[in-house]
Amino acid sequence: MTEIAHAERAHALLSASGAHRWLHCTPSAQLEATLPDTESEAAKRGTLAHEIAELKLQKVFSGLPTRSFNAALKKFKAHELYEPIMDDHTNAYVEYIQSIVHAYPSTPFVAIERRVDLTDFVPESFGTSDCIIIGGGKLHVIDYKNGQGVPVPAEDNPQMKLYALGALKAFSLLFPIEAVHLAIVQPKVWDTPSEWSISATDLLAWGESIKPIAQAAFNGEGDYVVGEHCGFCRAKATCRARTEHMLAAGSKAPLKPPLLSWDEVGEVLRQADGIVKWYEALKKGALAEVLKGGQVEGWKAVEGRGSRDYTDLDKAFAHLKEKGIDEAVLYDRKPLSPPQLEEALTKKVYKDLLEDAGLVVKRPGAPTLAKAGDKRPTFNDQVKPEDAFSAPLEA
Ligand code: SF4
Repeated sequence: MTEIAHAERAHALLSASGAHRWLHCTPSAQLEATLPDTESEAAKRGTLAHEIAELKLQKVFSGLPTRSFNAALKKFKAHELYEPIMDDHTNAYVEYIQSIVHAYPSTPFVAIERRVDLTDFVPESFGTSDCIIIGGGKLHVIDYKNGQGVPVPAEDNPQMKLYALGALKAFSLLFPIEAVHLAIVQPKVWDTPSEWSISATDLLAWGESIKPIAQAAFNGEGDYVVGEHCGFCRAKATCRARTEHMLAAGSKAPLKPPLLSWDEVGEVLRQADGIVKWYEALKKGALAEVLKGGQVEGWKAVEGRGSRDYTDLDKAFAHLKEKGIDEAVLYDRKPLSPPQLEEALTKKVYKDLLEDAGLVVKRPGAPTLAKAGDKRPTFNDQVKPEDAFSAPLEA
């Protein structure tokens, strides 16, 4: 049994995808609503990948005719934001869903791009779940993420838990549901999906526990709370709370002795986490304001470094060759790196032709500073003292 719903990917004030932010910083939702919503190129690319994934699921689960499928896929592939690797990644997502469905003795219920009502727990809220599977007392909620910048684990993920609550509301009268399995397929980050499970009873109890927080967020009440979630907030550049937090980093460190202790360094790094990105976002916002005629005290727009280009590349190179310049001087021929080739050739061809032929070696990465709670194992090798300050820092 398959249900397809082409839900509009509109957003509620308290969206499920923003839950990790408004659950921490309740006034952020109303503040965001006062700011323009600009969609980044990465977000647009993510939407395209979702559309391709949805199309593939329609073919597999609801018998979309091959002709219609091919025509739609061709259209997506002609999109300016299409990347060949999207094909591999969306295949991985579809295969994962198939593996869950095929593990059932008879076909379970499958809903694709299902809009779910979240108003039992969050005022005026709804969301669109990429894939819902129900069978044998189990509810699976699966989400595809196209990004690579920020890994999004399924564990205790509020967006996924809200989708699951919406699915419980929509389907628990039709199907008995005891266990809830959440999975995020993020192929640019993980080789295998991130999975997490919770009982339906515990999930409902969590839903009850967030009701007052969601109500405060809806009313725009509560304190501004700075944290990693700020990186996803529309107010991240000009938010006063975040600015004060950034500028206060290190201010509590004692002036004597003259050098910070390593404990203090740890605290300053923690407080100033995200300061570089925040500063860049603030500069970008100020430049946009100045360019549209506004005033940002003490700042102005100037012309950046210019560039040179050929008036006519073919003509210029023909002229150079005519004058005896060797062609080898004119072109910079560089081999593509393994990740670039994987993207150009698709994962399978890359694996067959290079990895399986033993033509690619995996080298360990350089040590990088990460937070104590980071899931990666601690780097064991001794770092030479002279390298300590050249090692990259990572938030
Ligand atoms: S930037 Fe951070 S502190 Fe400011 S409103 Fe957004 S989430 Fe809250």
